[in-house]
Amino acid sequence: MTGLSKEQGASTGVTANQIHNPLPSGNDIRLPWHLRLPVSLEQDFRFYSRNSAAGAASSALLLIALLLVCAMLVESLVGSDVLLQTWRPRLFTLMVTGGCLMLCQQPRWREWLQPALLVLSFTLSLSGVYLGMAIDHPLSYVFFLQTPLAVVMLSTLFRLPFHSTVVSALLMTGAMLAGLYFSKESTPFEHATLIMLSMAFISMSLFGQYVYERLLRKHFLSEHVLYQHRDELHSANQVLESQATVDGMTGCINRRGMEARLNHLYHLLKQQNPDAPERVCLLLFDIDFFKQYNDTYGHPAGDECLKKVSAVPLAMVQAEKDFVARYGGEEFVIVLTDSSFNDALVFAERMRNRVEQLGLPHSGSRVNQVVTISIGVSSSDGGAENGGALLKQADEALYQAKGAGRNRVAMMNHQGAVEMLT
Ligand code: GH3
Ligand code: MG
Ligand code: MG
Repeated sequence: MTGLSKEQGASTGVTANQIHNPLPSGNDIRLPWHLRLPVSLEQDFRFYSRNSAAGAASSALLLIALLLVCAMLVESLVGSDVLLQTWRPRLFTLMVTGGCLMLCQQPRWREWLQPALLVLSFTLSLSGVYLGMAIDHPLSYVFFLQTPLAVVMLSTLFRLPFHSTVVSALLMTGAMLAGLYFSKESTPFEHATLIMLSMAFISMSLFGQYVYERLLRKHFLSEHVLYQHRDELHSANQVLESQATVDGMTGCINRRGMEARLNHLYHLLKQQNPDAPERVCLLLFDIDFFKQYNDTYGHPAGDECLKKVSAVPLAMVQAEKDFVARYGGEEFVIVLTDSSFNDALVFAERMRNRVEQLGLPHSGSRVNQVVTISIGVSSSDGGAENGGALLKQADEALYQAKGAGRNRVAMMNHQGAVEMLT
């Protein structure tokens, strides 16, 4: 539900179709009672829950180590003969706890953490069963309580997956019941009390974990859907962005894109950013007598001519920061970065020559029998304050190239005067 009424939708510009088909969210996905998701999602969820549980595991393990030490202290107070029997299993459990702690510290071993935590809880439960059976003391039945403790530990402290916790709880409870059956010390009343207590602990913690994992899975699904939307939105934005900055006919960057890129380059230059080029050279060219071309050969032929002429600089620029833009009509801009002013002039002359070499017939031209271009060149070394000023200098040079007879290159030199190259 979007929560929008039809009237609200109209006032906010949302169409009726959008109101009836809201974007799916994680809440729309129904989670089955057994919690299992489709295989690929299930794998992603395992990874997600493993990482979210690993964060809290190390403090939980420290708590367990502390409790084990306290248990040994209590056992030493109960009697030194009791401690004599308990210290080995306790020490072993402490060592397993230490091992788990080490796994927590290494992210690349994290996939082994959950099996290690299972080993720890089985160690705790089985050592309790062993001690309950082996120790000859009226209170020895208390050791059997380590089994419900181990289940509580798995579910509330380590947040292991619900399914593996249930299986582990069943196995540990089975071992505890078998141990109680063979235990000679405890009375039937103590048995019944122990079993009741254990069942209460185990069932409550498993129920709590079921609810928790359900919520976690819902949260995971919501995030998953959100990420998908974000990715789709990102790619759609990229497509729109490129459509908005590319000229459909020639494939060059359009004027809007050119201004943005040129301003960005200048911004880098001014900030003395490490990514900034040493200088920016700008070439502005215009096809000579293009009006006449259209008049002689027609507008569609003019379009074809524009495509062929613009393909020349497009094939010549290589570096990532260099680009060709359609400035408007039959005027194009080429921005060269990190090339010297001389290199830019050589580039311009080569480009002028290649266009001429295309040999596109132009009977209406008063300068040649084929299509030619005139070019104005400027460089950021010439003192232009920004991209607009650099463009203005190139435009001034182009204007003079036209005035000097066309089919030539003119440059704005560093003294602010226009010089003809050819
Ligand atoms: P000059 O040598 O002084 O540049 O003379 P010119 O005739 O080329 O003059 P100008 O640059 O002002 O001419 C621009 C012409 O380009 C006018 C317009 O008909 C044509 N033109 C602009 N955009 C397009 C286009 O997309 N397709 C075609 N076929 N013609 C275009
Ligand atoms: Mg023009
Ligand atoms: Mg022209």
